[in-house]
Amino acid sequence: MWFFNEWLFRFPFAVAMINLVIWTSSCNGSRGTESSSMDANRETERNRMVDQYIVPHGIKSPAVIAAMRHVPRHRFVPGMYALFAYIDGPLSIGHGQTISQPSLVAEMTDVLKLKKTDKVLEIGTGSGYQAAILAELVDKVLTIEIVEPLARQAEQTLAELGYKNVRVRVGDGYQGWPEEAPFDAIIVTAAPDHVPQPLLDQLATGGRLILPVGRGIQSLELYHRTAEGYQRKTLTLVRFVPLVRSGEN
Ligand code: SAH
Repeated sequence: MWFFNEWLFRFPFAVAMINLVIWTSSCNGSRGTESSSMDANRETERNRMVDQYIVPHGIKSPAVIAAMRHVPRHRFVPGMYALFAYIDGPLSIGHGQTISQPSLVAEMTDVLKLKKTDKVLEIGTGSGYQAAILAELVDKVLTIEIVEPLARQAEQTLAELGYKNVRVRVGDGYQGWPEEAPFDAIIVTAAPDHVPQPLLDQLATGGRLILPVGRGIQSLELYHRTAEGYQRKTLTLVRFVPLVRSGEN
């Protein structure tokens, strides 16, 4: 699993091309009634992605599955990659950054076991896609991005799609967002080499933190804050871009 993720990360374009060929041949003629002009929002492709990659990945929550069916991922990627938006791979979003593969977005969201009333912090806004998935599920999403142009672009895409419950801030997410703490859940989509203490501190009791930790190949870790302390669980191996600290980039 881990080497597959790394491979995907290194060769997203090549993988996208291979997947596109497999995918077009596998769905050839199966849904002949829908033409692209009748499905400008690409719902058919999105549903196919969910059926082929998200549900088989073991995603449990019906709300997460519904969000993955609803959010138009093609709107979050640069035009040149929009064709590949419904393949289960990461894609470049510029500035050396990537939008994560959909099955990983779904898995990380699913394990957070979100409730509608939860207040969620994301570190690493990137394209804004993960923030949109969260915004489908909870009342309040706050997200921090260190690369200002990415933050502005994500803010614009989210506004165009009508998400009013997401706030985007430019800054170093290592520090969290102390004025808005505590959070019921925190999701980090860039990898620090150790768990940021400010993020642990900003979890509410009962809160969950998911993040990749390490250099190179990282372990995906889930922290649960209890009245007594923190419980940690390692989920899988992943490959995210590194979390950079302000002054480093
Ligand atoms: N969640 C994103 C993908 C994240 S890619 C999406 O749905 O598209 C990781 C992002 O983390 C990049 O955009 C990168 O610029 C950002 N990042 C890296 N270090 C950061 C930091 N210290 N604080 C906030 N964002 C950071």
